[in-house]
Amino acid sequence: MGFRPFVFRLAHSLNLKGLVDNRTNCVRISIEGHAQKLSEFLKLLVFSAPPASQIKSVEINSCKPIGYKDFRIAPSTDGGQFVTEISPDIAVCSDCLADLQNDPARIDYPLVNCTNCGPRFTIITDLPYDRHNTSMRDFGMCEKCEKEYNNVFDRRFHAQPVACNHCGPNYVYEENGRRITKIGEILSAVARRINEGGAVAVKGQGGYHLICDALNTRAVESLRMKKHRDAKPFAVMFSNIETLLQYCFADNSELEELTSWRRPIVILRQKSDLPRAVNSGLGTVGAILPYMPLHYMLFRCLETPAIVFTSGNLSEEPVIKDDDKARKLLLPITGALLLYNREIVNRADDSVVKFIAGKPRLIRRSRGYVPAPVDLEFNVEGIFALGAEQKNCFCIGRENQAIMSQHIGDLKNLSAYEFLREAVDRFCRMFRFKPEIIASDMHPDYLSTVYAEMLHQQLGIPLIKVQHHHAHIASCLAENHINDKVIGVAFDGTGFGTDEKIWGGEFFIASLLEFERYTHFDYIPLPGGDKVIDEPWRTAFSYIYRYFGEKFDYSSIKGLKNIGVDQLLVVREMISREINSPLSSAAGRLFDAVSALIGLCSVSSFESEAPIRLEAVISEPEDGYYPFEVADTVSFRETIKSIIEESATGKMSYISAKFHNTIAMSSLKVSEKIRNERSINKVVLSGGVFQNKYLLEKTMRLLAGAGFEVYANKAVPANDGGIALGQLAVASKKREICV
Ligand code: ZN
Ligand code: ZN
Ligand code: FE
Repeated sequence: MGFRPFVFRLAHSLNLKGLVDNRTNCVRISIEGHAQKLSEFLKLLVFSAPPASQIKSVEINSCKPIGYKDFRIAPSTDGGQFVTEISPDIAVCSDCLADLQNDPARIDYPLVNCTNCGPRFTIITDLPYDRHNTSMRDFGMCEKCEKEYNNVFDRRFHAQPVACNHCGPNYVYEENGRRITKIGEILSAVARRINEGGAVAVKGQGGYHLICDALNTRAVESLRMKKHRDAKPFAVMFSNIETLLQYCFADNSELEELTSWRRPIVILRQKSDLPRAVNSGLGTVGAILPYMPLHYMLFRCLETPAIVFTSGNLSEEPVIKDDDKARKLLLPITGALLLYNREIVNRADDSVVKFIAGKPRLIRRSRGYVPAPVDLEFNVEGIFALGAEQKNCFCIGRENQAIMSQHIGDLKNLSAYEFLREAVDRFCRMFRFKPEIIASDMHPDYLSTVYAEMLHQQLGIPLIKVQHHHAHIASCLAENHINDKVIGVAFDGTGFGTDEKIWGGEFFIASLLEFERYTHFDYIPLPGGDKVIDEPWRTAFSYIYRYFGEKFDYSSIKGLKNIGVDQLLVVREMISREINSPLSSAAGRLFDAVSALIGLCSVSSFESEAPIRLEAVISEPEDGYYPFEVADTVSFRETIKSIIEESATGKMSYISAKFHNTIAMSSLKVSEKIRNERSINKVVLSGGVFQNKYLLEKTMRLLAGAGFEVYANKAVPANDGGIALGQLAVASKKREICV
């Protein structure tokens, strides 16, 4: 992060003498001088450190003066810093933004950067992090840039992607076979197109984006149609904080996150109306602020203060990063392409953060976070965890650090699987990583498991399979540095259980090493298997059938009214004859069922639409909850019965809030039972269902109120994007007991 040059400049400015050198896990500064200057140094060291650096602690020791003559940076001798050497990408800094107007060589230069900002992970091919190991290798430095690069007092000292109008990569705009290369003309052309309601595919830091005017309904609808993106909400980039606050609610911590150097998408509550086509009327917005110089320059020319800012990909494929592919696949969607002639080496989607219970929690961990390691309290060297199948992300272990890959995607998609293979090769090479143990999910059909088995054969190294929900709980234990036995509550959409059924409403007594399935939600058949994910009415029907049987008056159910009788009969046949109706205890399916039951979402048009709508319909919190039963399993028979009764009179917000409370209450009741029997007081909550803000906050409040210590994911997603970390941690503990 340019930390040593920063220390050097700081020491120089205070006329202090000494030495700074890099150690494996710290920077050591030997420094001599006037006491008052030294305390000044210490203060500035912490408060004016480069934005992307993170000072975890400062340890001070005094010793006899050596009598240094000057201040120097010691050359790196230890080869062990590879892990910390690659920084995530950093949003453009204010000095560079000022250079766009003031630095003669960088007036309107859209790829301006310095040691404090710019691309990092997305342009690196190998280590050491030098220009020749980045996609800047093809661009020689001009005299001015080279001078700055070599001057330790300059902000661009050893800034590998340093560039300017004379020597760096440049943008090109393509539309109807026309190519524009002058930046001023490019900006006007893009602005004209967006102002007129058109769309443009824009090359970003870690991949392409598709943009259009977010306030122009026709423009958004047309982009949605051409992208074949049913109803999944689009992210929105606002020109600045003021315009963002016109459309969204954001408190100080949310604003801090939005403006941080990581610059993620933050899910905010919507204030005033955006076109329904932007977010399908969900009441929340995935908001982001400009982070590349070009974004700022664009907003100077646009009439709108808000643009749709969505990944440039086809349906569920990884975001496109290569120009030829963008020309082939994105140009037909937008009709215009804005790109620059520097290769994106490592794909990285925008990261997504949601504040729950006052803390930022990652929903998708990619640009700005990867490949910064997650620090652990135990050794994970040589462990390679392949993750789950959806929202795949893998993880490699180096010493006490877990290095999570960027978001890979859904491996069922062939190009996502190819991306996985490519990213694995890159991580192994970059981090000099040689796998000694492989960890994977237990699901025999996950492509990540298949890949793990292949590596296990090829490399002849052990493979440890970790149960999906144990991995969820372990991810939370690992990032929170918990080494005890805990009550693990995993609420999830799906996951392969040790009894070969689908799990996901699980109460474990778990440690990193092992787990015991204490109890779980009732098993319910899923008629049609995976089909229930797109058609939550099937699960609603199944719940009613399971609890109330054939005789029930199904025509009284709101969410089944639009489903044909023949379809209902087929589903009933499937369940009663056990045809393609796997049993599932997943909490996600219960949320689906209730959402369908009360008529909110019988057929889903994007991932998790039913539970998202169920949460979104809550307009004010409630305290009440429905009856349920904790016996051998957790039964929601009475819950479903009451919901059916109450839904006759409407009041969806009330029903939904009470339902959420019921699930939270079930966690409390089971946890209390376990505490009474086993004296365990720590509860760990994980699994995709806990991305639900109302549910997680309510559950945490109830548990904390009863004296439990409660933990949830922050650093890695509670969804399957965090699974690899859990697998890594479990594998490490299993290895410990083998040696
Ligand atoms: Zn900068
Ligand atoms: Zn230059
Ligand atoms: Fe999961």
